Amino acid sequence: MTLNKEDQLRLEVVNGAKAIFSKGLVEAGEGNVSVRNGKKEELFITPSFNQYNTLKKEEIVHLNFEGTPLSAGKLPSTEAKMHIAIYKSRPKVQSVIHTHSLYATTLSIVRKNIPIIMEEMYIFLGGSVNISEFGEAHTIEIGDVALKALGIKNAALLANHGVIVCGKSLDHAVKFAELVEKLAKMYWGALQIGKPNIISKEHLDRFQKLFESLFANYPRHMRKKT
Ligand SMILES: [Zn+2]
Repeated sequence: MTLNKEDQLRLEVVNGAKAIFSKGLVEAGEGNVSVRNGKKEELFITPSFNQYNTLKKEEIVHLNFEGTPLSAGKLPSTEAKMHIAIYKSRPKVQSVIHTHSLYATTLSIVRKNIPIIMEEMYIFLGGSVNISEFGEAHTIEIGDVALKALGIKNAALLANHGVIVCGKSLDHAVKFAELVEKLAKMYWGALQIGKPNIISKEHLDRFQKLFESLFANYPRHMRKKT
């Protein structure tokens, strides 16, 4: 059976959700995954009170950028406003993922950035993973603070809350969510046994091109500001 475009996108969200669940980045009822609906001002997002292990494509919610559901059934994730804010200000972003993964959220509680401790951070994420200001969950405010913390990068920590990542594909976003948690764990571990050494910018310049050509998804007009 061939799936229509809409069903393909719903299935993509299900697969992304199951991927982050199987990697232990979310527990039942928390976090959310979405994809943009092509050139339309619409998205497909996991439902509220999402049960990852039984999630089916019929439960994925089709929303427009006003937040109005275009499909019957489940209610959308309560963090849909944050996803929409990112799609609106970053036209190249095709997928957004939000998790409450353990080590990254731990760092978000002490409001620590993850500095550049591995070269791969620069290639995949565009640099350090910065902590946002506090934004109340389920509001448009958290979209604003998330965007500010992201800057031109692909990942940020949300103060006392978790992780937000965005990618040019769902596979990218899954990879970034996984990487942020791995880096948070390594940084946390390093802090326990000594003073982490941060890689200096001069060693990273050669990775700039790789980030720009492979994973960067920020709009061109932001380039000079950072
Ligand atoms: Zn959350």
